[in-house]
Amino acid sequence: MQIKGEIMSYIKGLKCRECRREYSIKPVHVCEFCFGPLEVVYDYEEIKKSLNRAKIEGRPKTMWRYRELLPLDSDPAVGRNVGFTPLIKAERLAEVLGVKDLYLKNDAVNHPTLSFKDRVVSVAVSKAKEFGFEVVACASTGNLANSVAALAAEGGLESFIFIPHDLEKGKILGTLIYGTNLIGITGSYDEVNRLCSEIAENYRWAFVNINIRPFYAEGSKTFGYEIAEQMGWRAPRHVVVPMAGGSLITKIWKGFKELELIGLLDGVDSRIYGAQASGSNPIVASFKEGIDWIKPQRPKTIAKSLAIGNPADGFYALKAIRESGGSAEDVSDEEIVEAMKLLARTEGIFTETAGGVTVGVTKKLIDQGIIPRDESILISITGNGLKTQEAIQDRVGRPLIIEAKFSEFEKIVTPNQKRHREVPLQATI
Ligand SMILES: *Cc1c(COP(=O)(O)O)cnc(C)c1O
Ligand SMILES: [Zn+2]
Repeated sequence: MQIKGEIMSYIKGLKCRECRREYSIKPVHVCEFCFGPLEVVYDYEEIKKSLNRAKIEGRPKTMWRYRELLPLDSDPAVGRNVGFTPLIKAERLAEVLGVKDLYLKNDAVNHPTLSFKDRVVSVAVSKAKEFGFEVVACASTGNLANSVAALAAEGGLESFIFIPHDLEKGKILGTLIYGTNLIGITGSYDEVNRLCSEIAENYRWAFVNINIRPFYAEGSKTFGYEIAEQMGWRAPRHVVVPMAGGSLITKIWKGFKELELIGLLDGVDSRIYGAQASGSNPIVASFKEGIDWIKPQRPKTIAKSLAIGNPADGFYALKAIRESGGSAEDVSDEEIVEAMKLLARTEGIFTETAGGVTVGVTKKLIDQGIIPRDESILISITGNGLKTQEAIQDRVGRPLIIEAKFSEFEKIVTPNQKRHREVPLQATI
């Protein structure tokens, strides 16, 4: 498709990640022959001819500045303002962790629903519109629910959202507000997902993370592209990524490799580290055991957004970690809360439990000497703390309540806090 003399789409088709069999562009996600997952294939030769750093830099500050590397045939139907979130040099946190060169990629403030999921959903819902679907749906651990409901509303589509019934209040309210059909399942995410796969076989709906998954997953690459561009077209040496289904981590790795392939990065020597909660660590456990398959778990952790016991991309996440020379680690719920507080107090960023997982795991990997102290480190912050208030409810103290009287105020100020107190006027005469 041509728009203003520019080729918009460089997608060649879909390809099975296992047997390499090719498929045309349609809403399918598994290979008919070997049940391997399908992936979008691009014409990198043509992209390389057309795209350069200056061209990207001249475009609006959204994830669509990398549109040649995304699987849409036309302009996005929804989520035109998603992405290009802040990359922060974290000097105060670096000091506490005892490292030299630390960065945060902050998708806690992604538009419009405050998590990295807006990246994947804006691609998926736009693609669903291109395919002519009238209903979008998803199986979610929370953030996906928020994002699908919001972007479906923006696109004027009906939505059906399936979640474990016991998610955080913020995630439930932050879905219902958009006027969706929200269905709470009495079971784990893995049971929700199984039900959704069955529904997807019987209804002509666009399940963003099931039948639209090959397109959906590509949106995650922009998290990696932005990191590289915002660091001055350089990939950080160490990148720590939270893992639920294991898709984001594989796509950040793929994103760096693609930029290298089309000549926008001069070599990638990044190591990718996977982070999970100890109460839901199927990918980390396999990494530690040195196996390349996943033993399903029944998750139990406050990091509900990452609580997937049978991760769809676990195998590929392990592959990305090992290929890059990285590692994987998990942290307890207690460590997650401490890490959330540490990030807030040092950098002024309130992340959700998933961010507590990445910060906590980064600290652990540094303490273990696995991530060296003198090389660049990037921590992925993927969600917002206002959505998981339950996790820290009784862990941050309470406000002091006083009457609106100066004398009452003076009673609660400590001697040290009084050091800036002005000497009363009468006393100076
Ligand atoms: C979904 C999610 C992730 C991880 O996603 P996967 O691609 O499934 O591994 C990370 N952080 C947050 C906050 C999420 O909602
Ligand atoms: Zn196949």
